[in-house]
Amino acid sequence: MIYDCTDCSYSGANSGRKGECPACGSFSLVRRRGEGEETPPPSRWRIVLLVALWTYLLIHVVWKLST
Ligand SMILES: [Zn+2]
Repeated sequence: MIYDCTDCSYSGANSGRKGECPACGSFSLVRRRGEGEETPPPSRWRIVLLVALWTYLLIHVVWKLST
């Protein structure tokens, strides 16, 4: 988690012991996600499923056109 202080320009991974801003002591901290943090990697089975469904669809289209 990244903490952004709305009262000063503090932005960092740490907050105070009581959740206050370590720079100015304000309690108006906004938590946000860090860049690239907690983002799940693209799952391989979704891509496999997508390709399989497209192949299935194309085979059926070709089969319909040929008959
Ligand atoms: Zn602050």
